[in-house]
Amino acid sequence: QDYLQLQGERESQARSYPRRFPLVIHKAKGMIITDMDGKSYYDCLAGAGTLALGHNHDVVVEAIKKTLDQQIPLHTLDLATPLKVEFMNEIFAILPDELKHTAKIQFCGPTGADAVEAAIKLVKNATKGGAILAFQGAYHGSTQATLSMSGNLSKKANLQSLLPNVHFLPFPYEYRCPFGVGNGKTAEISAQYIENLLNDVESGIAEPCGVIVETVQGEGGSIPADIQWLKELRRITAERGIPLIIDEVQTGIGRTGKMFSFEHAGIVPDVIVCSKAIGGSLPMSVVIYKEELDQWQPGAHTGTFRGNQLGMATGLATLAYIRENRVLDNVNERSKQFFETLNRLQEKYEEIGDVRGRGLMIGVELVDPRGKVDRLGHYLPNGQLASKIQDRCFANGLIIESGGRHSAVLRFLPPLTITASETAEVLSIFEKSVMEAVE
Ligand code: PMP
Repeated sequence: QDYLQLQGERESQARSYPRRFPLVIHKAKGMIITDMDGKSYYDCLAGAGTLALGHNHDVVVEAIKKTLDQQIPLHTLDLATPLKVEFMNEIFAILPDELKHTAKIQFCGPTGADAVEAAIKLVKNATKGGAILAFQGAYHGSTQATLSMSGNLSKKANLQSLLPNVHFLPFPYEYRCPFGVGNGKTAEISAQYIENLLNDVESGIAEPCGVIVETVQGEGGSIPADIQWLKELRRITAERGIPLIIDEVQTGIGRTGKMFSFEHAGIVPDVIVCSKAIGGSLPMSVVIYKEELDQWQPGAHTGTFRGNQLGMATGLATLAYIRENRVLDNVNERSKQFFETLNRLQEKYEEIGDVRGRGLMIGVELVDPRGKVDRLGHYLPNGQLASKIQDRCFANGLIIESGGRHSAVLRFLPPLTITASETAEVLSIFEKSVMEAVE
């Protein structure tokens, strides 16, 4: 059977990944996907950063089997089960001290966007309302409200009148920042601008209901926020009593080398949004927040799928595995390995304009060295070349994500358990593919 053709006939034009990666997956283990023809691929997409331990990790498979064997009800709305309490305990165990004993957790619908929606309603409910402040280039989901807070304009075409009262602040993207000066001052200028805006009662957004930020913009192109800037953002919001929401949907659960990415800056947000990896391969999302924000009336924010017990079992198994098996050390070691090679490639190829990221959330921005330069003197983004390299990678057995402006950024999001030899293999396929594409 031609499964690809059958899928194309049935499924909406909205489908995206099958166009880029025309394979039919037969099975997957660790970071290897095998297609119906027996061809293997290294998977650096890993369920868009969801598969912290890779595909079908033994502890995840065991957790599913055990749950089924014990006849645990698979769906419980938000009713209590021992498994749910165990899962909550495991999550609380990894929270910063300031939140560990007092924070509240709310289970949301299965997706990241569900949890972002809940977080926004939460802060609106607990404050006087006011604007939501988000960042240029951000991505928080594809629902109406989350899209309103996302900076990717191409997805918003024809989708006018989304959530009103969202204002975009400048994200400190040193390499391409429209207000940047290219001398390492971008973060400082951004923080100063935000503070000035909040000091200006006539700005109309001086009393926002919350600020939502990714510490590393994922879909925006693996852009890590400056650490000092994150500290400043925390100071500026804390001084004014503005809830700071950190969207850890992609960065959370070890992806950046710390359990939560805000730990790099030594800050604690008021609200943490988690999804993807926290479900240990299955759909799951939660919002964790300071107790003073918990001003919901019972039932004020509901949803049917808040009790996925299998997701709690796999999430619990994954969190415990990460905590007990030096997985974060592996993320940091492998990250170094990625950067060493990618930085070397950048020196070799003018087509590689920028290499950046944090932990195992890494981006390579492709540029056109035969074209114009921007006002900072950098060659312009080259989405076509990125796409060509991505295709060569696929042909050579590597699945790699793209993102960022003009889709010119190739993004590595491997499982956190990727080994040194797998990393070397991935990088060697990448180098070969770059060489083939620029030739
Ligand atoms: N926030 C961030 C930072 C994300 O990366 C994503 C998904 N890529 C989302 C929210 C939305 O999650 P979902 O696709 O599960 O709705």
